[in-house]
Amino acid sequence: MSWRETFQSRFGGALPLDAYLDAVDAALAPYGFTPERTFAAVSICRDELTQSLIPEVARRWDHPFNLGGLGGLPSLGRTGWGTCLAHVPHEGGRGHLLVFGFPHVGIDPDGRLGSSLRRHQDAPTPTCGALASVLETLDDPPPADPTTEALADAEARRLRRLVTAELDGPPADLGAFTRAAAAAVEREMWAELEALAPWGAMDVAVFTGIQIHVPACADRILPLTAAIRTGADTAAHPLELGT
Ligand SMILES: [Zn+2]
Repeated sequence: MSWRETFQSRFGGALPLDAYLDAVDAALAPYGFTPERTFAAVSICRDELTQSLIPEVARRWDHPFNLGGLGGLPSLGRTGWGTCLAHVPHEGGRGHLLVFGFPHVGIDPDGRLGSSLRRHQDAPTPTCGALASVLETLDDPPPADPTTEALADAEARRLRRLVTAELDGPPADLGAFTRAAAAAVEREMWAELEALAPWGAMDVAVFTGIQIHVPACADRILPLTAAIRTGADTAAHPLELGT
């Protein structure tokens, strides 16, 4: 099977990264998210394949703040969020925080989902390695903590817990698991923002989806949710992505 067949059958509504970001820009235009007044923050996996998003976001809204950890979950904690929110431009009134949250998945040249052929390697490896590893060990008891604190795998444990919480039963495959991860990213992102309550000082827009790496082409984005909150007394409401 070619990668295009896998892509069409699994991610029919996905857009090239450029087109997706153009649609985000258009959806936010009525809300004053101009390049000068917008602060972008991205929650993407640590994998080097995800990083192509950064220059494309920077080209539109300047360099983004990094929220993400394994699987694309926001993993910066209260201190990290405090720093991020303190950097939002506020000249001329309210700030405008634009958040992206994307787990990722790859398709290799033979059409295998969850697999990518990386540069100067002769065989594909899992994408996302973190989600693939968590899925593979879903039925295993959590491993004992290693003696080295820095290797205690706190991010992977949290990823496992939050993604599993989105599942009704065993996931069909890595594609289904990645969709559950996207739901976890969205739920967690809004929960963390609710706890921090920055609405008094800034409008906040959150876009979630799945970042898809395909052979020899720009990344695609499958749009999943888009919402904005514009004040302390209003709830977040969905945004239309005119794609
Ligand atoms: Zn990853």
